[in-house]
Amino acid sequence: MKHIGRNSKQAIGLIGWFIIIGILWWPQISTGESRFIDLSYPFDKSTIYWPTNKAFHLDQKFRGKTPKGYWYESNDFSASEHGGTHLDAPSHFAEGKWTVDEIPLERLIGHGIKVDVGSHAQGNPDYLVTKQDFLDWERRNGPFPKGAIVLIQTGWGAFWPDKKRYLGSDKKGDTQNLHFPGISEEAAQFLVQERTVSAVGLDTASLDFGQSRDYPAHQILGSANVPGFENLRNLDKLPAKGFRVIALPMHIGGGSGAPLRIVAELE
Ligand SMILES: [Zn+2]
Repeated sequence: MKHIGRNSKQAIGLIGWFIIIGILWWPQISTGESRFIDLSYPFDKSTIYWPTNKAFHLDQKFRGKTPKGYWYESNDFSASEHGGTHLDAPSHFAEGKWTVDEIPLERLIGHGIKVDVGSHAQGNPDYLVTKQDFLDWERRNGPFPKGAIVLIQTGWGAFWPDKKRYLGSDKKGDTQNLHFPGISEEAAQFLVQERTVSAVGLDTASLDFGQSRDYPAHQILGSANVPGFENLRNLDKLPAKGFRVIALPMHIGGGSGAPLRIVAELE
């Protein structure tokens, strides 16, 4: 082959580019993976609410062809602030602290870390996350980044949407027989006194464990203006660190909590 025509050279060059792009994109194409992980459950009939709270309800107002010939659908919805994947504003358990609309966005968007306590909580629905759990994470991963959004994986997400297994009781109004892990008083104090965190979330129905009667984790975090995220999804898909959290609650003026769309962006 003495001479390769100009067009052939261009074609070879183009094929080369396709091969390079193909190699670079292949992991995404082959696994269908996104760099975003959805940490929110959808709101529908199966969404879990606190036993005394109003559940999510979608009321269809219209769905169909209008007399003028175009399609139209529209619903009303109603629900308690606290249910499904949602945000607890500091004001929920601390008088005068931030309501939903007062929380600065800087507290809701930032570096996330995940503390996996699943090996301790497994088989123990009354497990309380300890300060030692956080120190163990730091021993393996380095100190908590300043202003981190701390997500705690208890493993309870695996029971969603089975109310009985997730909450411990599926009876309406029954708050006496709730059993699921939560954050101990000592661990909450560690987060606000010995570290600087922006927000704290977990994969159970409450920051405090099911058998709590005075909700110390809510009180301590709220008093320090630290928002909480509850009923988080897909925490098992997150690494221990190296991701950004974007947590945008419904912007309810004066809200003590709100439905939350929260995603992690892998770095
Ligand atoms: Zn709540």
